[in-house]
Amino acid sequence: MAGLNAKVQEVFDEPGCEKNQGKSDKERKKGCTKQLQPGAAAGGCAFDGAKIALQPITDVAHLVHGPIACEGNSWDNRGSKSSGSRLYRTGFTTDINETDVVFGGEKRLFKAIREIIDKYDPPAVFVYQTCVTALIGDDIEALCKAAKEKFGRPIVPINAPGFVGSKNLGNKLAGEALLEYVIGTEEPEYTTSYDINIIGEYNLSGELWQVKPLLDELGIRILACISGDAKYSEVAASHRARAAMMVCSKAMINIARKMEERYAIPFFEGSFYGISDMSDSLRQIAKLLVQRGADEELVDRTEKLISREEAAAWERMASYKARLAGKKVLLITGGVKSWSVVAALQEAGMEIVGTSVKKSTDEDKERIKEIMGEDAHMFDDMTPREMYAMLKEAQADIMLSGGRSQFIALKAKMPWLDINQERHHAYAGYDGMVALVHEIDKALYNPIWEQVRKPAPWEQSWQQ
Ligand code: SF4
Repeated sequence: MAGLNAKVQEVFDEPGCEKNQGKSDKERKKGCTKQLQPGAAAGGCAFDGAKIALQPITDVAHLVHGPIACEGNSWDNRGSKSSGSRLYRTGFTTDINETDVVFGGEKRLFKAIREIIDKYDPPAVFVYQTCVTALIGDDIEALCKAAKEKFGRPIVPINAPGFVGSKNLGNKLAGEALLEYVIGTEEPEYTTSYDINIIGEYNLSGELWQVKPLLDELGIRILACISGDAKYSEVAASHRARAAMMVCSKAMINIARKMEERYAIPFFEGSFYGISDMSDSLRQIAKLLVQRGADEELVDRTEKLISREEAAAWERMASYKARLAGKKVLLITGGVKSWSVVAALQEAGMEIVGTSVKKSTDEDKERIKEIMGEDAHMFDDMTPREMYAMLKEAQADIMLSGGRSQFIALKAKMPWLDINQERHHAYAGYDGMVALVHEIDKALYNPIWEQVRKPAPWEQSWQQ
């Protein structure tokens, strides 16, 4: 536990995280987010955060050491897609019982690792600590070390039991585990001056594949995506990239910053959502690669590709613009990258009547202000009652949010679109922007709204 406490404190002291750096020592010790109230675990625990950050590594066996419910809660909770192995979607757990709680669960864990290797032969096994096994004192770090020697392959401890804190902290502890045990442990077959890492992109609904063809066309190779559609060996050899893009600022800033420190890989923070942000990201990638030795002509090629793709995207969006112009959107994204979604919706001619900034950094909030002006309606914590009132009083025509708040919109008989991590449509890049506009249009003009807003047949006859 002493090692874990030190690691948690190190994560809180992350110099790349402006929010933490702005806090006093006392506040920083308390952690990234306020402690959850009992019964409010829907936000996810640290274990859950670590698992969602790493599960997209597709050929690894992700073994959860704990009671079966931990894996039950976290299995496949994001729709990360794979272009190869499907092992990551198999749920492995030691499913510890009362006897293990009394006598310790390490033997069971060792046997589980052996069984996985015998049956599935993965390049690596990631072992996730959970609350119960941490509390009974199972030392997964020592056990993984012994198992690595015994089985001759990486057995990686992910020490982020649920009780240490929030999901976001779990994301960062997962990043620390990669830095400590995985990154830099293998060499790529070859390297080029056009190798990049993409950090904090999870290939939800296949979003990475909306961007990858454009990078391929420019001759830019994704050496590793951490962690969407990644293979173990790619992450292990990612220290040879020339530049990196950090997509999700909150989750994996520690990976990007420490890779810059250790391996001199410069990075920038960008977004694949919205036409201008997508173009900016391509420009920044090209610029960083040229600074690191790529041919200058990459910049011109990138500009040509951007003009072609932007023109095509605007043309495809033209037919929706008249239908969406002036429509009011209530945006509850969970905060992360909400500025990027705000910019994307404004590009489509929509008006943002409110956006949540609960999980946004100060920098994110500043960017929203830049885009929406000083009267940007940002809500730190909007209650379901307030969301309902906004929709019911038609202050908003549609709500874009995660699945958890969908019933608020449905109760208010207003359209809703899932844009959070469980979404089923991919919205990245130029194609993704067209897809987003298409889905918003479908949701807004669905004939069901007219029907559900009519009085029920029995109410009509009663009124006559
Ligand atoms: S790790 Fe702890 S908080 Fe997280 S699901 Fe398991 S028991 Fe619950």
